[in-house]
Amino acid sequence: MDKEIFDLIALESKRQNEGIELIASENYASKEVREACGSILTNKYAEGYPNKRYYGGCVHVDTIESIAIARACELFGSKFANVQPHSGSQANAAAYRALMPEGGKVLSLVLNDGGHLTHGSPVSFSSHTYDFVFYPLKDGRLDYADIERIALEEKPNVILAGYSAYPYEIDFKAIRAICDKVGCKMMVDMAHIAGLIAGGVHPSPVGIADVVTSTTHKTLRGPRGGLILTDDEELIKKINSAIFPYYQGGPLEHIIAGKAICFKEDLDPSFKVYAQAIKDNTKACSDELASLGVKTSGTENHLFLVNVLDSFGINGLDAQKKLEEINITTNKNMIPNDTLKPNKTSGLRIGFAAITTRGCTIDDAKEIAHIIYDYLSDKASQEECLAKVTKLTSSWKVIEEI
Ligand SMILES: *Cc1c(COP(=O)(O)O)cnc(C)c1O
Repeated sequence: MDKEIFDLIALESKRQNEGIELIASENYASKEVREACGSILTNKYAEGYPNKRYYGGCVHVDTIESIAIARACELFGSKFANVQPHSGSQANAAAYRALMPEGGKVLSLVLNDGGHLTHGSPVSFSSHTYDFVFYPLKDGRLDYADIERIALEEKPNVILAGYSAYPYEIDFKAIRAICDKVGCKMMVDMAHIAGLIAGGVHPSPVGIADVVTSTTHKTLRGPRGGLILTDDEELIKKINSAIFPYYQGGPLEHIIAGKAICFKEDLDPSFKVYAQAIKDNTKACSDELASLGVKTSGTENHLFLVNVLDSFGINGLDAQKKLEEINITTNKNMIPNDTLKPNKTSGLRIGFAAITTRGCTIDDAKEIAHIIYDYLSDKASQEECLAKVTKLTSSWKVIEEI
């Protein structure tokens, strides 16, 4: 019936298969995950939670959601989980509501320094419902002494850690110590690094933070959605009622089935190998760029930031557009102490979670550094670079077969 839309899906498949995807928040979900998400489970209403539903006929979705919860708890070593958030933003909304009253104060990192919209941006609900104050970065890194100083001054209800564009490891124990000193709650939004945590290549906040939120579609490699974890029985009750009925209606059981499959994939020993490979590829590309004289943040996770203004004399937006001419997808990003506005920026954010899923090797990652360098410094033509990109992507897995 709808050729228009299916033709567009085919075009998007071509774009995904032929491009080098370096957007740090993206990944390729497996065939099984995608199959569950496109399944007849989308037909089912299941307001409520397993065995406490407002509709009949929930026998099978109850089992599916219970399995998803059990696997999430096993994967992260958590006591309780809510797998219903439609997105990471919804997960954060529910976590805030569970942790403090409206108007409560949160100490977090501002969007331009690598935080998320839901971490107190004026264009997000978060800054309207809660009072956000921010800790600065020092040379692009968290400064725990500074966070403690500000926390003692501001006396927040919650200190929030976990970011969208932070290339270094986070010391969750150091933040817990500050929370204990101040007497406030600790929340971690591990949306970006959840897969590294699940794979054992980044320290885990579970068992340290009061509440941990996540997305399931970034490094975790599942369907688009959210997740909330806690060890606290009182908090999970508040989280559950904040998700349903406060913020959401019927859960997306097809997506929850996809999350269950994703958690099973992440529990497999092969996921540890994948998580380490993401880190190795990211570091190989960043180190290679640095050896070419490019200003990069360096990396301890799945992403790094490049100062394209200082390195190539162009702003982040122009660099992003230019790389798109050779089928390399990145996003402009603010860098520490950026002199340009957020709609231009001086930086690019580059991540390796997606193409590592397709089979990108360390040598490929180094070659990508050279392609980026050659094209942004006008040392190679669009044709030459496109040929190299095509050679790489055609050596990797077809995304429909992942
Ligand atoms: C991506 C992200 C989110 C939100 O995810 P959506 O599913 O897009 O709502 C929340 N927090 C952080 C730190 C993120 O990077």
